Amino acid sequence: MKNSKEGIFQRIPRANCDKGMDRNLLAILVCPICKGELRLDRKANELLCLADGLAYPIRDGVPVMLPGEAREMSFDEREQAR
Ligand SMILES: [Zn+2]
Repeated sequence: MKNSKEGIFQRIPRANCDKGMDRNLLAILVCPICKGELRLDRKANELLCLADGLAYPIRDGVPVMLPGEAREMSFDEREQAR
């Protein structure tokens, strides 16, 4: 019998990569408090948890997912981010 291992690794579809960095990042990252989805705020360079009203800073491209480092969002900010 012929061993045909090749093929297993074929055709793994490549993710759509143009904004891949951000998307992949967001796909992995969840809020450490509520485990909820995060929103990326490009302007402020923060990751937002709307459920908790917290903004986690991104420093040198590295998200700091520590509740102690997070900034509390104002009511207006939360409304706008929705
Ligand atoms: Zn949260």
